[in-house]
This record gives sequence, C-alpha cells and structure tokens, in this order.
Amino acid sequence: MKASLRFLGANRQVTGSCYLVEAAGLRILIDCGMFQERDLLERNWKPKPVDPSRIDCLLLTHAHLDHVGLIPRLARDGFEARILATAPTVELAEVVLRDSAQIQVEDAAIKAKRHARERRTGPHPSVPLYTPRDVEAVLPLFRGTSFRTPIPLGDRISARFLEAGHILGAASIELTVRENGASRRIVFSGDVGPPGAPIVPDAASVEEADVVVLESTYGDRDHAPRTEAREALAEAIVDTLERGGNLLIPTFAIERAQELLLELGELIESRRVPPVRVFLDSPMAADATEIYGRYPEFMDDETRRTIESQRLAGTRRLLTVVRTAEESRALNPLRGCIILAGAGMCNGGRIKHHLRQHIGRPESTVLFAGYQAEGTLGRRILDGHPEVRIFGESHAVRARICRVDGMSGHADRGQLLDWLGHLRRGPTTLALTHGDEAASVALREKVLDRYGWDAIIPRYEETIEL
Ligand SMILES: [Zn+2]
Ligand SMILES: [Zn+2]
Repeated sequence: MKASLRFLGANRQVTGSCYLVEAAGLRILIDCGMFQERDLLERNWKPKPVDPSRIDCLLLTHAHLDHVGLIPRLARDGFEARILATAPTVELAEVVLRDSAQIQVEDAAIKAKRHARERRTGPHPSVPLYTPRDVEAVLPLFRGTSFRTPIPLGDRISARFLEAGHILGAASIELTVRENGASRRIVFSGDVGPPGAPIVPDAASVEEADVVVLESTYGDRDHAPRTEAREALAEAIVDTLERGGNLLIPTFAIERAQELLLELGELIESRRVPPVRVFLDSPMAADATEIYGRYPEFMDDETRRTIESQRLAGTRRLLTVVRTAEESRALNPLRGCIILAGAGMCNGGRIKHHLRQHIGRPESTVLFAGYQAEGTLGRRILDGHPEVRIFGESHAVRARICRVDGMSGHADRGQLLDWLGHLRRGPTTLALTHGDEAASVALREKVLDRYGWDAIIPRYEETIEL
C-alpha cells in the first residue's frame, strides 16, 4: 500500500485533532480528539472512515479533550490496539476522560428530559456519546513513555515523543518510516506552547522533517509578554484586598491552574502581594495538580529547582485544596481571599456558585486568565454585559472584571514561525491545522514571506500521499 496521511479533524477549525498515517504496512492514528465547536458536534457521532479494529496503534500528543476525547468511542467501535503517550499524558488523559464521560451522561439525561417534555426525539436521542464504563474499558490500552526514546511501532517505522511546551507531558510526535531503502520523517507538532512558559520545558527544536503538520491556533496574532500578565495579576490582587473583596479566577483544570498556583506563590514569596489565602476549588484541578507533583522529570529545570529548594513551602500553607461541595459552600462567607475554580469558561462547575455570590459585589473581582469562547458565561461577563444569568437567575454585574493576557498555552504567530525556523531545509509538505481558517491562512502567508515555503491547509477527511 502507498504511504498516505489523512486529515480527520482540526482542519480549518480548532478541535477534534485526528490524523491517520498508513505507512510501512501499518495504520497509525495520531490523536483522537473530540469536536467542541457547536456546529461540528455531529462529527463526534460519526464513525471514523477507517475500521477501528484495523488500527495498529494510537499515539497521543497530549491530554486535552480536543486530542483524546473520542478514544472511548473509538474503542466501543472496535479499536483494541495499544495507545502510546508520555507518562503524564496517560494519567492526565484518565482524569480528562472520566470527567468527559460524566458530562456526556449528564447531557444525555438533560436531553432525555427535554425530549420527554416536548414529546419528540432528536437525531441522537438521549444516549451518552460514551459512559464511565467505556472509559474504564479503554484505560488498560494505555502505555506511558518518556520524551526522546525511539519506540519501534513495526519493522520499518518508529516514533519519538518530543517536548512541545504546552501542558505537562505534551509532545510533538516524530515518525520515521524506512521504505525501499529510503528513510522519511513525518512530524506532528501537537499543540505548541510559547517558549519561557512556567512548569513545562520549551518546545524541542525540530531540525529534520520531510512532512510537517503544524498547529495554527494563533497563526494570525501575537500575545502580550508574560511579564505583563504577572503585573496585571498582582495589581488585581492588591486592589481587591484593599477593597475587602474576593478575587475569583475561572480556571482550566490542567496547566493553567498549576501555573496560577506557581505564579501566586512567587508573588507572595517576593512580597509583591500580601500573604493571602488561596483556595483551589476544582476536584479535577486538584487531581491534575497531584499528577503534576508526581512528574518533576517532565518539568523545566527552573520549576524543578523551585520544588526541590522548598522555596515556596511557606506560601503553600496559604493554599487550601477544596474537594467536597460542602467545603466549597463553606467559602461563601469568607472575604479577602483568592478562589480558583472551574470551569475555565464559567460554562459549568463550581465557579458558577462563586460568581452567584460575588458578581454583584463591587468590592470583588473576577479575573480571566484564559480564552473565553463565544456563547459562554465567561465571554458574556468579559464582554461587559450589565446583567448575566446564573442558574436561571439574573444578576447585575457590579464586581470588577479584568483579564490578563500573556498566559496562553499556545505559541503565537511569531513563535510558530520560530518553531519552523529550526528546520535545516524546507519540508516537502507543510500542512497547517488546528486553527480557524483565517488563522491558518494568515500563517501560511507569513511562512511564505519568511521562508519561501508553500503550506497546504487540508480539508476535513482530505488524504495526501506521503
Ligand atoms: Zn492542547
Ligand atoms: Zn488542541
């Protein structure tokens, strides 16, 4: 069979990353992500255009839902091969998939209720996409590995996981195929993080590749510098404490929560802000934080030194990890503290309870440190709506609303161009994925400008020969 690459998601849009490589007699899947854009949810129900029982191996770049979210579905459709990922990705994926199955079950129950009330059925009536049982069934297939070690997938093909600098364990995946005496290299960037981000090591320099598949989330813009984010965070803390309110930070459970805890520790330790009690009120973020604690070898040198030196041990006494709903409610009367809670875009989770308590208080602050998608509660608050609905009740927005830029988990346009700049020669094929069409198109122009390489922006289910 001819070697080929098929694009099965994140094409001219961001979520649902999935690629099928057929080479050296094997069928290899790279990522199996969930589609999260509202218009594309239908694709989650559609069987993959390859028989899952004939896939020889699944490789994962990292544990975000848009890269792992459809694995239980794939397994239910017959996939039973091994799943290879870095050791932290294996553990984080477990947390992400369990949470996702729970949400699928709850969503299906809500849908069933609505259908019963309206006496009708939808296209996918009230069955969850997958259940916790489907997740448990797939976990034994996972195998954890480390960065850089070549892993033979067959006689003529091997894989390596290289640092991508995005979240703990996040990798670019390099495939080396030896056929007819020649060796070819295919690199999937995965989600690339900005250099200098805390906790994770910077993305590896990829120097050799014949085919490159590069993400382009921020292919059309540049971020504010990170130092600005730290300053804005410090200013918001000091200001809120002076006014006697609470600082609420809607937080993504993986990486952002751990980064914020580290930043807060540094700010307190350096006396840039007064000692302030910090509550991490998200069971999923608490699980993720424990996993982070187990993998210092996957962190950058600076973070490892910080952990080993116990430099932030004093500030850790100010941190409380909140597990139960009862403990969460006990935070209601407290003032002068920082509460980190999920979900990151306020479309669920305990942050909604805290917003209900604080959004009407002029002395409190809601600080956004992450992306807020169209249509979410977070976006409405950030857009400056004077009133928002929380749990079906209208609340006047009187709290101070602010955002910090510069904490993105994704490289910006300039940083993506720099990532490509490590290549010693232009790839035969450069494919831009994982970005809205405008972002991918803008990046293609910049790549052509700077390096003279023409990139393709594949369409969903398009196949190219390797
Ligand atoms: Zn990601
Ligand atoms: Zn992604």
